Amino acid sequence: MNKCRDALEAMVWQFGYQGVRDGKPIIWTGGLSALEEAFEALGWEDPRFVEDSDAICDVEGCPEWTVSQGVAWEDTGYWHICHKHSAAARNNELQPQMKQRAIDREASRDPITGYLP
Ligand SMILES: [Zn+2]
Repeated sequence: MNKCRDALEAMVWQFGYQGVRDGKPIIWTGGLSALEEAFEALGWEDPRFVEDSDAICDVEGCPEWTVSQGVAWEDTGYWHICHKHSAAARNNELQPQMKQRAIDREASRDPITGYLP
């Protein structure tokens, strides 16, 4: 573990720009010199493609970053969703198919507390 590298990476995750390119989530510098230097120090490409995770929309096929959690289709789970799907939920649209990793996450919640393991 390199504390300085870990701190730099945490800063980039917090302040880097989130986006989508070629249908995949990315984090990028936005042309800001401090972020460019940080990406270079980390050895990261700009943009850096990001693996699907709980930071990415739970809706199947959606590569967008999440903007809200827990309020959409809340009778079926505590879903993490993007701006577009948040609007769809507010418009009472039917719940789309969710990603298997999200379904598995919701199924792992404690039935009493609702906490994840
Ligand atoms: Zn979405």
